[in-house]
Amino acid sequence: NADSAMYKAKEQGRNNFQFFAPWMDTQVSNRLEMLISLRRALDQQEFKLFYQPKLSLKDGRIIGAEALIRWESPEQGMVAPDRFIPFAEEAGLIVPIGEWVLRTACRQNKAWQDAGLPPIPVAVNLSPRQMNQALPEFVANVLADSGLSASWLELEITENVVMKDAEKTVATLNTLKRLGLQISVDDFGTGYSSLSYLRRFPVDALKIDKSFVRDIARDADSAAIVKAVISLAHILNLRVIAEGVEDEEQHAFLRENGCDEVQGYYFGKPMTVDDFTDRLRKEAVQAAP
Ligand code: C2E
Ligand code: MG
Ligand code: MG
Ligand code: MG
Repeated sequence: NADSAMYKAKEQGRNNFQFFAPWMDTQVSNRLEMLISLRRALDQQEFKLFYQPKLSLKDGRIIGAEALIRWESPEQGMVAPDRFIPFAEEAGLIVPIGEWVLRTACRQNKAWQDAGLPPIPVAVNLSPRQMNQALPEFVANVLADSGLSASWLELEITENVVMKDAEKTVATLNTLKRLGLQISVDDFGTGYSSLSYLRRFPVDALKIDKSFVRDIARDADSAAIVKAVISLAHILNLRVIAEGVEDEEQHAFLRENGCDEVQGYYFGKPMTVDDFTDRLRKEAVQAAP
């Protein structure tokens, strides 16, 4: 039965899980392996945060960072979030992983400030499963523990998070906003959100999805969508940021059309803490009179 199969697998030692109960097909067994390795990743601190700069389009200065999770798996090497976040969401592991992300990003941001670097908000991605009534208290605790002021924390949520159970989500977002943090809508344009909701949600910024930015120069529809989102954001008094900017042509288009901020490989890939610290330090030196 299942228990004895598990037991046998455990007997064979860590890192050598095998599931061979007859009722398990390969898919189930792979999922179990994934679940076990993600749990282990959390316990053994195999997750890392990388940081990608966000720049002002006015003067090209770094005005923020997004924390992006990586999994340094002993078996598979560096694993990108698209390969494990959806699974972690389904398995419920996204809640403890998300808590680790928030704590780590807040601590890191406080450490940069304590090191005398120019303060910037750091953004953390939230998955739909984290958006519940317990979230504001958790965030408040993490801020208190880290000593980071809420104004230096930004939360990125997708439109689908917002639209799922809209009433409850508005209440939760309002409570979060009262802490003093920033909220942005990620991958804007790819999900469903109605304009009336957008107006009612206490968000501060829209992030134009990188699929529209990628096609700006080649596809008139993408260019039109990007312009429309920039106008929409400004009408609603929101900041607008373009993600996935990879070349000068896209950069110029966004600047000419009044986008506020940019993020993308053209300005800096997601990087390790050490590399991001160097980048911030260089900026601080350049800014000095
Ligand atoms: P996202 O939040 O939309 O993050 C932006 C993604 O675009 C990142 O991929 C980033 O590396 C990538 N990117 C940035 N600039 C460029 C560019 O110029 N060109 C291209 N092609 N890509 C660019 P990444 O790091 O692989 O993350 C993928 C997604 O995984 C994120 O999309 C986010 O939805 C999710 N994710 C990442 N970290 C976390 C986390 O800590 N918690 C949760 N819940 N989700 C996360
Ligand atoms: Mg994001
Ligand atoms: Mg995005
Ligand atoms: Mg995304």
